[in-house]
Amino acid sequence: MLNYWKNAALWKKVISGFIFGLGFGLLIGLFKSKIDPNSTLRTITQLIPGLSFDGLTSVLSAGGKLFINAIKMLIVPLIFSSLIVGITSMKDLKKMGRIGLKTFGLYLLTTCFAITVGIVVAKVIEPGSFMKSYYASNPGVIEQMMEGTTESKSAPSFLETLTGIIPNNPINAMANGNVLQIIVFALLFGIAINMAGEKGKPVSDFCNSLAEIMYKLTYLVMELAPYGIFCLMAWVSLIFGTAILAPLAMMVFSLYLACAIHMFAFIGGVIFFFGQLNPIPFFVGLIDAHLVAFTTTSSSGTLPVTIKCAEKNLGVSSNISSFVLPLGATINMDGTAIYQGVCAIFIAQVLNIDLTIGNYITIILTSTLASIGTAGVPGAGLIMLSLVLESVGLPIAAIALVAGVDRILDMARTMVNVTGDAMASVLIAKSENELDETIYNQKAAV
Ligand code: ASP
Repeated sequence: MLNYWKNAALWKKVISGFIFGLGFGLLIGLFKSKIDPNSTLRTITQLIPGLSFDGLTSVLSAGGKLFINAIKMLIVPLIFSSLIVGITSMKDLKKMGRIGLKTFGLYLLTTCFAITVGIVVAKVIEPGSFMKSYYASNPGVIEQMMEGTTESKSAPSFLETLTGIIPNNPINAMANGNVLQIIVFALLFGIAINMAGEKGKPVSDFCNSLAEIMYKLTYLVMELAPYGIFCLMAWVSLIFGTAILAPLAMMVFSLYLACAIHMFAFIGGVIFFFGQLNPIPFFVGLIDAHLVAFTTTSSSGTLPVTIKCAEKNLGVSSNISSFVLPLGATINMDGTAIYQGVCAIFIAQVLNIDLTIGNYITIILTSTLASIGTAGVPGAGLIMLSLVLESVGLPIAAIALVAGVDRILDMARTMVNVTGDAMASVLIAKSENELDETIYNQKAAV
């Protein structure tokens, strides 16, 4: 049994952590509410001397916070290094000129559209409304849950956000974990490295190495995920009881629905109307990449499969795929952008915070930047969510509300991330006459 657990794939462990945590929390919660305080079943939590229901809640809360802190530890170096790697990999823009600009423009446009889909779906479905009504009858519960993790701030105006994005001291921005300022500094820093040419290369190599190390560190932290998620799920479901089920199920449903709309209606539509191609071979040809993305939740890890699918099944020339796809795996994250839109709205609904039009625009802008800075590794979007929350004054600790189901959300968003990259490679190849339509269409016959 122990051996099976040790050798099990991380995604299986994470889903087990989620299911067991949810079950454990609900079961204990049930005992707490239904059982006579003096009954023998009441003593279940007292098998460990001194451990009461409250004690158990504190232990679970501490375990969850440990995981969240480990994730938060990654934010500053991960964003800084991976964004610089993304920008410096665009050095090829000079060589590839037009193609590079098209790629970047397409990535930005599809990302903005993706966030909008996420926001609209979350506004229509209102996944936070169940928890919101619970919250209304139990004021203070959510603050208690997030207590000590961070302080909540009042929402800054759009203008304040805009003027505050340039850091007057980048070291200060890093020390304070001001993610938006770090992103702006990293963007400018990356552009300056490119401009410095040969002289900038040592720093660029250093950032590459730092990014690799941070990806590895992210993997290490993700090893904690099954246990962290167990604690978070058990803790949240112990506090909320069955009330947690509805909002989380609706949250997962909203994300999957938004991803499906983006993937099939938007990406399929763009392939059809702008690429003048049948979208069916596109989706059929990408099945391998979809499955790998869904199970590994890493678009960087899926990259070799995506390139293979694009070249062998979709007929994209290797010239185009070798440039567009790696760049996409670094900077183009449509699924992550959808996720950030859905989560921000969900959290605002749960916390009963009304967002202004300025807030929505801020969410679109920061989610675009955040998705550019998100590494193509498992769980990276959860880390970047803090940036989006912070930009509209939502408490960062509220990621505790969605962290428990993050793996399930990550599966869908990574699949969409990979699909968005592949779409760009097909469209750009088509516009450059580098798409072999005979290969592309052969999948239509399958
Ligand atoms: N796991 C995603 C990817 O690799 C990133 C994320 O966490 O949103 O594309």
